[in-house]
Amino acid sequence: MYFRVIDDARSSAIGYLLADPAAQQAVVVDPPPGQEALIRALLDERGLHLQCVVRTHVHRPDHADPGGLCAHSGACCVVGEGAESGSAVQRVRHDDSLVFGDEVLHVLSTPGHTPHCVSYLWRDRLFCGDVFDVGGCAVGDSESDPALLYDTLTQRVFLLPGETLVFPSHRLKGRTVSTVAEERRRHAQLTGRSRESFVTEMGFRRLVRPHLARALERPAEG
Ligand SMILES: [Zn+2]
Repeated sequence: MYFRVIDDARSSAIGYLLADPAAQQAVVVDPPPGQEALIRALLDERGLHLQCVVRTHVHRPDHADPGGLCAHSGACCVVGEGAESGSAVQRVRHDDSLVFGDEVLHVLSTPGHTPHCVSYLWRDRLFCGDVFDVGGCAVGDSESDPALLYDTLTQRVFLLPGETLVFPSHRLKGRTVSTVAEERRRHAQLTGRSRESFVTEMGFRRLVRPHLARALERPAEG
């Protein structure tokens, strides 16, 4: 197997290149905008053929559209069912599988951050987009649904084995990798409540956060 993190400091987005080197087949998860040349160089360097560009979620407007990368390589562009995307796409749903060489990506429906978020489970690794950016991703606010996010966390992601490695599409408290067990602990206070309490807390954070951000930007008086 081949696994390469594509961490784009400028956009703070993180993507992942996975491959079966023997079969020379590769998949890219959430390629960060502006990293197409690097991805193409990595593929060329190893003689890999890009099968799919898979995306955990799509925001509106879609600034991260990887249509160029798909068109150049002939790869299919994969999004969750219902997600809007400008590129020619293959839509996937929960329990679908994507095969590259002898490797398999399993699709998990993980809505909440956006209505059509999906995550991809590969071996012991979960590529989960912004599932764990609870109350922290301003760009997702208008599309997020806290009730769905509660179900995704408690009934899907946290049921995976604790040692499952978690790879987000943005840093988690400064880190690029975590585990399901760590995230269970980190969110225990929030997800240990009822679904209704979780929704109320998320609504409160959404209201308070813009005021807090403005207050922090304001120069100190005196
Ligand atoms: Zn997002």
